[in-house]
Order: sequence, then C-alpha cells, then structure tokens
Amino acid sequence: MENFDADVIIVGGGLVGSALALALKQTSLTVMLIEGSPPAWDWPLESWDQRIYAISRASRQLLQRICAWQQMDATRLQATSAMKIFGDANAASLQFNALEAGVDELAFMLENRELQKALWAGLADCSHIQMITPATPSLLHVDERAATLSLSDGRQLRARLVVGADGAHSWVRSQLGIVPQVTPYEQFGVVANFTIEKSHLGVAHQWFMPDGILAWLPLAGHRMSMVWSCNDAKRAELMALSPEALCQYVAAAGGALLGALQLITPAAAFPLRLNQLPHTVSDKVVLIGDAAHTVHPLAGQGVNLGFGDVAELAALLVQTPVNQIGDYLLLRRYERARSEAVYTMQSVCHGLQKLFNNTNPLLKTLRNLGLGATNQLPWLKRQLIRHAMDA
Ligand SMILES: Cc1cc2nc3c(=O)[nH]c(=O)nc-3n(C[C@H](O)[C@H](O)[C@H](O)COP(=O)(O)OP(=O)(O)OC[C@H]3O[C@@H](n4cnc5c(N)ncnc54)[C@H](O)[C@@H]3O)c2cc1C
Repeated sequence: MENFDADVIIVGGGLVGSALALALKQTSLTVMLIEGSPPAWDWPLESWDQRIYAISRASRQLLQRICAWQQMDATRLQATSAMKIFGDANAASLQFNALEAGVDELAFMLENRELQKALWAGLADCSHIQMITPATPSLLHVDERAATLSLSDGRQLRARLVVGADGAHSWVRSQLGIVPQVTPYEQFGVVANFTIEKSHLGVAHQWFMPDGILAWLPLAGHRMSMVWSCNDAKRAELMALSPEALCQYVAAAGGALLGALQLITPAAAFPLRLNQLPHTVSDKVVLIGDAAHTVHPLAGQGVNLGFGDVAELAALLVQTPVNQIGDYLLLRRYERARSEAVYTMQSVCHGLQKLFNNTNPLLKTLRNLGLGATNQLPWLKRQLIRHAMDA
C-alpha cells in the first residue's frame, strides 16, 4: 500500500489556492496547503484594502457553495447595478444595465483581504486539511507513483496530486519547465480608493482614453475604487502626486461625476502582462489561477477565471476514485474543459486593449462607432453581460 502525506498538495494560499482547498473540504480527500507568507488578519475597521475585485455571478455561486461568501461582512460588499463605458471620441458610450439584462446585479465589488480572511477561516479546524505556513518548496519531483515536494526546511511531502496556485510567477510552473508566452502591455494598473461626494448609485464607470483606461468601481458606502491602466510615464506622474493633487487629478479625469474625492488608500501600481501557457497540466501536477493564465484587468476577470478553474477541478476530483486523481488523462480533461473560457477571455481583453491603445485615426473612428453601435443592440448587450457573469 502506497504512503502519501496528503492526497492533494496545493502550493499557494491566495484566493484561488485557498478556494480550492475549501472546495475540497467537502470531500474525503486529505489536503495540504503550502503558503509562503501567511495573510495578516488584523486591520483597522475604518481602513480599506488596496486590492478590490469585481466578482462575477459564477464566482459568487462558487463562494456560496463553499460557505466563504456567507462569512464576509455584508456591509463591505457592493452590488454593481450598471456599467457606463466611454470611448475616446464623439461622446461614444456603451451602457450595461442589470435590470435590462434581467439580473439583480452585474457583479459584486469586494476587498481582497476580506475574501482571503473568509476563505482561510473556513479552512481552520478541519481535520483533513493542513495549513503549512510560512513554508516554501525547494524541489518538485514526480515519478510514476507520486509527486514529492521538498520544502526548504528539509521536509519531504508525497502526494497523489500537486496543484500550483502560486501566482503569475509560479514556482511550480518553473519546476515543470513550462515557459509562458509573455506579452507585456507596457502598462501598469494604478489602484487607489477614495471617498466620494455624490452617490455612485452602484454604477461603475470606465473611460477608454488616448493614454490608458480609467475605471471607477463602486465600493460600499460613499466610496469608490480606481484602476487606471496606463503607460509608465502616466504611472510615474500619478504616483508622484500628493494625496490632494491625486484626488483632483482623478476627479477631473472622470469629469467630476462623483464630485470631490478624498483618498482613503494610497495609490499602488502593478505591472500588467498577458501570460499564455502551452499547457497547464502534466502527470500529477496541475496549474490554476494566475499560475495558469493572466489577463488584462480592463474587464476585471482575472480572479474570476481562477475561480472557474477551482469549480471545474474540484468537480472533477470529486467524481474520481482517489487513486486516479493525479492521472495525466484526467488532468487533460480538466485542461480541455477550461481552455475555451481562458482563451476567450484573454483574447477579448487583449483585443480591446490593442484596439484602444492605438493612435491610428481610422481605428479611432471605428472603435468609437463600434461602442455606439453595440449600445443600440440590447440582445448583444444581454449576451455580453451573461458571458461576463458566467465566465
Ligand atoms: C491592477 C489589477 C486589478 C485587478 N482587478 C481584478 C478584478 O477586478 N477582478 C478580478 O477577477 N481580477 C482582478 N485582477 C487579477 C487578480 O488580482 C488575480 O487574477 C488574482 O489575484 C490571482 O489569484 P491567485 O490566487 O491565482 O494568485 P495570487 O493572488 O498571486 O496568489 C498566489 C499565492 O501563492 C503564494 N506563493 C507564491 N509563490 C509561492 C511559493 N513558491 N511557495 C509558497 N507560496 C507561494 C503567494 O504568497 C500568494 O499567496 C486584477 C489584477 C491587477 C494587477
């Protein structure tokens, strides 16, 4: 009889890795979660996390099934009822409305750390899930019997399946020798949160501008979160502004739609790149979340794609006899099931980014005509909304 330390070892306890561990809590599989830096749990109640996510309907349903959604403070969640998108010429605009699409909301806005806390809380006091943190792996060895993970502290852990959920610079991926095709956008996502003078009414705004894409996302209460995808020069300019000057600059960029702004979390900048992988599985190892794919944040879909991976992989593992969960052919089934959703989302976001990050005057006319024309087609808008909600 084979000896395993766990059926599944997950490397990376970010949102995606911890969601998979929690999804597996409802099974009889034994799980180890290896995380390099344990999250901090204590923060002043009045503070807001820098990282804000738009969570799709499909992701919310997953989080409800694994009982993480119910653990979050409902007063810090914000439903998005509509989204207004503005082009960069001729007052072109496109609006998506939950009511018109026959749904309650387009997405929920929430803080990374609140969701992370809810996921980790769900993993505590579970006899068949072991959290190993802080810990970092140093070697991954796979043979026909097991995947063996050596940790830097000398421990060796044998499992039937190793899951790499260790983010865009995945260590697990590098151990497999998988080299992603990286397309740098030469852009940064500059994020900051503000209090606002006028109510946002649950509406998100996005402006495609000649020098970037600005998004204002509604946060609970009189607050909003900004994501400005911009080039390095604009990033440097934004990051150098004093809090007061940043508020005035951002308010002016959005036509003062929400009145005066006050900064509640300082600006931070994240480099943006598209990572596409030739494959995401090998014998006894699978990659999920940002380890398997990254996407431009203009549609706010990165973590939603990762939660889609979790839903698919957990469903497959539940149906599979435990001695087969690392089988290459089974993992290929998972890979095939996810490839279309990942490819579509990467292509759409990449295409939009390229279309608007372009000074060709003909393209400028066409893209703005396209926005306006789409706005006149309710059936197309309904399709787009449903795709974004269920991706
Ligand atoms: C500006 C910006 C805005 C975004 N907005 C949105 C949005 O609105 N909606 C959305 O869906 N997505 C958004 N995204 C994307 C989203 O942030 C990512 O898709 C998501 O965080 C990926 O989660 P993950 O768990 O796969 O990876 P990560 O969040 O990177 O987590 C990886 C975890 O693995 C751990 N780890 C790494 N290496 C090791 C190792 N060797 N050993 C042990 N542990 C390790 C890390 O400490 C971390 O906890 C945005 C991204 C950016 C840059």
